Amino acid sequence: MIFENSYTSTLPELAVTWNSDVAPNPNALIINEDVARTFNLDSDFLKSPAGARFLLGNDVIDGCTPMALAYAGHQFGGYSPRLGDGRALLLGEIINASGDRFDLHLKGSGRTTFSRGGDGKAAIAPMMREYIVSEAMHALRIPTTRSLAVVATGEQIARETWLPGAVLCRIAASHLRVGTFQYAAHHEDPTLVQRLADYAISRHYRDLSNVDNKYLEFFKAVAQRQASLISQWMLAGFIHGVMNTDNMTISGETIDYGPCAFMDSYDPATVFSSIDHNGRYAYSNQPHIGQWNLARLAETLLPLFSDDKDESVAIATEVLMDFPKQYQALWDAGMSKKLGLTQAPVDFINDLLQMLHTQSVDYTQFFRSLSSVISGDASAARNSFINIEQYDVWEKQWKQLIAGESQTAEAIAVAMNQVNPIYIPRNHLVEEALAAATEGDLGPTLKLLEVVQQPFNERSGLERFTQPAPTEYKNYQTFCGT
Ligand code: AMP
Ligand code: MG
Repeated sequence: MIFENSYTSTLPELAVTWNSDVAPNPNALIINEDVARTFNLDSDFLKSPAGARFLLGNDVIDGCTPMALAYAGHQFGGYSPRLGDGRALLLGEIINASGDRFDLHLKGSGRTTFSRGGDGKAAIAPMMREYIVSEAMHALRIPTTRSLAVVATGEQIARETWLPGAVLCRIAASHLRVGTFQYAAHHEDPTLVQRLADYAISRHYRDLSNVDNKYLEFFKAVAQRQASLISQWMLAGFIHGVMNTDNMTISGETIDYGPCAFMDSYDPATVFSSIDHNGRYAYSNQPHIGQWNLARLAETLLPLFSDDKDESVAIATEVLMDFPKQYQALWDAGMSKKLGLTQAPVDFINDLLQMLHTQSVDYTQFFRSLSSVISGDASAARNSFINIEQYDVWEKQWKQLIAGESQTAEAIAVAMNQVNPIYIPRNHLVEEALAAATEGDLGPTLKLLEVVQQPFNERSGLERFTQPAPTEYKNYQTFCGT
């Protein structure tokens, strides 16, 4: 395995050499064979005791220099000038079979210079949650970091109770965050932001290397990727839960699965995170927060847009004002696809969403059931509603719109089942899997993974995985897992 260190060698100010804690009794709980294959990593080795030590950063191979990365960030709107990898380390960069560069990164690997009051550790459950949900997101074709492994450390860590500790080993296009630019902008070296932007362009936006106004084009491109990413979250009913600027990537990947969860019954105000008291990161607020975070990125880039500060602000404002339009266009297109239509009328979509909301209809189940209406079985869709007459009126309109499409009804139904998942990692199933994993039983986790890794492909015997949570999950809460 060949490690490269392009980031830390180009921008040494943004990283500190560090070692992971030595785990007393390493045990690889899960290895992602699909990811391992992509990077030509030997799964048998990763499953071995030596492989577990490698995945914990305890056996450091040649060329690998573990680093804790520096970044800042706005957390729930308040600025922290120095966050950084307080319980994480970058092992190095590896290149996949297509020649693309990725970070291999550990989470839960012990205290670093950025740990502040934290213990630098992670418990099995939150690391397994990141593994399950990121795999589900990948299978839903939503850009995301991926998990390579979860390795139990054999150590008990102190949370509300003692819990078994673990390290997650993940792969990311990079760990450049909005918060990395914020950190650079406050650094004593005034050239650092420009060097960071050049690095980000070379790594994620190579087409922009030689264009005029490349930093402005770079900012526009990041905004574009975030508009796309967040529209995909919204269409899937995904709530990130902690969209702090340190958790927003420059690459456009979803990162840092903490209190994230999928919405069950449709409600724009849905919040799962126990610490999000004001609903800052509620489902329907995610596009606004995306724009807010991009404004924070723009602030760091202003000196690169123009020598005239007022002009820079005007240029950046224009891009930011365009973000909602970009987002809306992407979301409209995605929602039309979910409905099997080339372009669904806005009022028609709004009527549907309002009906789903007022009647507390399961978001995922409803969209999946629509393709069966086309095939002649409307029972599942109809049974989702209490006020069936209201649904019937909507369904009639929908069928008229479908009849106006050029494709056959059968082809539309097939296409709809390619964008409306039947299986998502439902909160009660995730909790059940994590509770068992904490007790040493990985069976439910492996089963859930097998199900959500093929979210569009209906299989018999998996009915349980399509069902909404029991009613006691109405007030479901997630925790940051720190
Ligand atoms: P996160 O909520 O995982 O995105 O983390 C936010 C910040 O808190 C990052 O700087 C983390 O490194 C830090 N952090 C989270 N959990 C811990 C922990 N147990 N020990 C030290 N730092 C932590
Ligand atoms: Mg984070």
